[in-house]
Amino acid sequence: NTPVRDRLRIAIQKSGRLAEPARALLASCGLSWRESRDRLFCYGESLPIDLLLVRDDDIPGLIADGVCDLGIVGRNVLEEQGSERASLDRAPAFREYRALGFGGCRLDIAVPDGWDWQGPQQLDGKRIATSYPALLSRWLKAQNVDAQVVLLSGSVEIAPRLGQAEAICDLVSSGATLSANQLKPVTTLLQSEAVLAGPADALDATRGELADLLQRRLDGALRIRH
Ligand code: ATP
Ligand code: ZN
Repeated sequence: NTPVRDRLRIAIQKSGRLAEPARALLASCGLSWRESRDRLFCYGESLPIDLLLVRDDDIPGLIADGVCDLGIVGRNVLEEQGSERASLDRAPAFREYRALGFGGCRLDIAVPDGWDWQGPQQLDGKRIATSYPALLSRWLKAQNVDAQVVLLSGSVEIAPRLGQAEAICDLVSSGATLSANQLKPVTTLLQSEAVLAGPADALDATRGELADLLQRRLDGALRIRH
């Protein structure tokens, strides 16, 4: 049981690609925060909405555990951890509330430039390096392809050159990293962008109202942008 809180707590990335755009979007919704000394927690001034600055990978778990009420995280992270939970027969604990229009990228399969791509069956018997094992495994199963998933936490794009794998499954935005490593994208598993995430179950009344207020302001802020 989580203790009753009358303030809303939003987890965002502490540093990285989504950190600044997430803060800017929340600021454009009229939120402001007192300068914090510990640089982990930002106390909301204009509204009772606080920020927790964390690694993006921790955000779904913080929502699942009720430590945070909402989070701003890449759909890729949310879907990976959701698929992992599903594969372990655990109940969905978080879900995407809405897309936020920044941090766009794709989770792609990429193969060496020299391959003449014929389709997913070409991956049969191959090793595929990724940081997204649950999403890749789910996709391979759906494609009926028998490939080995090689889990790497970073620098996935150099795995083929190092002889660790024949192909990779990684996030791609411009494709520059792929071509620098003599790889080419051949198929997309997931279109991703930053999303507002929250618990699968409804929040309690006080925090639910704050979350609704924030979502109405996000609607307005995103409408002006696009
Ligand atoms: P953390 O230290 O928080 O774990 P990280 O290194 O996992 O950071 P970043 O590289 O900052 O994360 O990426 C955060 C998110 O930005 C990704 O999960 C993804 O949703 C999005 N993104 C957009 N374009 C790209 C890209 N080209 N490569 C990687 N991530 C991208
Ligand atoms: Zn991360």
